[in-house]
Amino acid sequence: AGSVDRSTRGSSTTLNGGDEDNINVVVRIRPLNEKEKATGEREILEFPGKGQVICQTMTPGQKPKVFSYNVVFEPAATQEDVLEYSGVKRLLEMAVEGFSCTAFCYGQTGSGKTHTLTGPPGLVERGTSPYSPEHGLVVRSFVYLFQLIQERPECHFILKASFLEIYNEKVIDLLNPGSARKPLQVRWSKESRSFYVENLFTVDCEQLDDLFAVLEEGMRNRAVGAHAMNAHSSRSHTLLSVRVRRDLRADAAITCSTHGKINFVDLAGSEMTKKTNSTGKTLEEANNINRSLMVLGYCIAQLSDGKKRGHIPYRDSKLTKLLADSLAGNGVTLMIACIAPTRSNLSETINTLRYASRAKKIKSKPIVKMDARDALILSLKREVEALQTENEHL
Ligand code: ADP
Ligand code: MG
Repeated sequence: AGSVDRSTRGSSTTLNGGDEDNINVVVRIRPLNEKEKATGEREILEFPGKGQVICQTMTPGQKPKVFSYNVVFEPAATQEDVLEYSGVKRLLEMAVEGFSCTAFCYGQTGSGKTHTLTGPPGLVERGTSPYSPEHGLVVRSFVYLFQLIQERPECHFILKASFLEIYNEKVIDLLNPGSARKPLQVRWSKESRSFYVENLFTVDCEQLDDLFAVLEEGMRNRAVGAHAMNAHSSRSHTLLSVRVRRDLRADAAITCSTHGKINFVDLAGSEMTKKTNSTGKTLEEANNINRSLMVLGYCIAQLSDGKKRGHIPYRDSKLTKLLADSLAGNGVTLMIACIAPTRSNLSETINTLRYASRAKKIKSKPIVKMDARDALILSLKREVEALQTENEHL
C-alpha cells in the first residue's frame, strides 16, 4: 500500500530471522481532524520513504529533522495496514510458540493511540462481531490468533485473558469494576519468575467471541463513572493481556507445555511526564501519576544503551513490573509511536520521535517459556537419543 512505508529492513513475520530485532518500532501519523482542517492548521511532516519521517522545526535557519524507523504509517494507512505491516503478526506467532510479547502505543493525548488499538471512540463498546474496517489492532490480532491456533490441530491451547488499568500507580481490574475501591496488588511469582496481579479476574477464552467480550467489557467499564473523565483517560494506562498455553506432544510419552503471552498496552499521554512536575496536584499524585510512564522511559534508555547497560529499574513501577518479561528476557516488543501532523503539536511530536528512536536501539534475545520440568525432561530425552545414535554408530 502506498500509505505504508517500510524501511529496507522492514519487518518480517517469520520466527527464524535469527538476528531480527526484538523491538520493532513503527510510527503512525493520524490524519488531520475536522477542526484542524477548518482552521487550516499547518502540516509539518513529510514521508520521503525508506521508513523516514522528516519534521520541520520552525526555528529559522535550522534544518528539518530526519528520523528513521522500521515502518511508517502515513495518515492514509488503514487499520488493516497496521495489522499487516506493523509486525504484530510476528508477535502473535511468537506468543503461540511460548514467548512473552508486548505491543504498546506511545504518544501525546489525541495522537491516535486508542484509535490504533481499538478504533474510534465507542466503537468497541457498541459490540465487536462482525467487526468493521474501523476496528483496531486488538480485534484484528484476536482474529489472527485464532487463525494460528486453528492451523495447529496437533496442539491443545488454553487462552486466558485479563484487562486492567493503572491509574496513579493503582491497579484496577477492568473486568471487575468493584476493584476501583480496593486496588489490586502486584506480586512476584517465584514459580513463573515474573510479576503478576493478585486476584485479577482472568477469563478462559475458548472462542474468538470470548476474547471480544473481554475487550468490550473492559472498554465499557473504562468508559463509565470516574473513568469517563477526559483527564483520567489521558493519565491512565490500560493493559489487556492474553496468556497462551500450548500443550504439545513431543512424542507418545511426553507432553510439553509452553506459556506465551501477548500484551496490548494503551499508555497514558506522553505529555504527562512533564505535567507530573506541575503544580496544583497532591504530592502523591505528582509522584505517581506518571511514574509508570517515566520508569518505562528509564528502562528503555537503559536497555538501549548497549555499551554500559546497567541496572534496569523494572521494579520501580507497576507497569514495568508487568511488562518486564517481554521487555527483557523472553520477549518481543512492538512500539507504535503515534503522532499528530500539525505545527501546534511540534514539540510533543519531536519528543515522541526521539523516544521511539531510543527504543529502536534495544537489543535482547528472546527465549521460550516452558515448564522447568518439561524442559528438563525434553533435554534429557534428546541427550539419551543422541547417546543411542552414537552407540549405534560405534
Ligand atoms: P489518544 O488515545 O492518543 O488520546 P485517540 O485514539 O482518542 O487519541 O484519537 C483522537 C481522535 O482522533 C479520535 O477521535 C480518533 O478516532 C481520531 N483518530 C486518531 N487516529 C486516527 C486515524 N488513524 N484515522 C482516523 N481517525 C483517527
Ligand atoms: Mg486514548
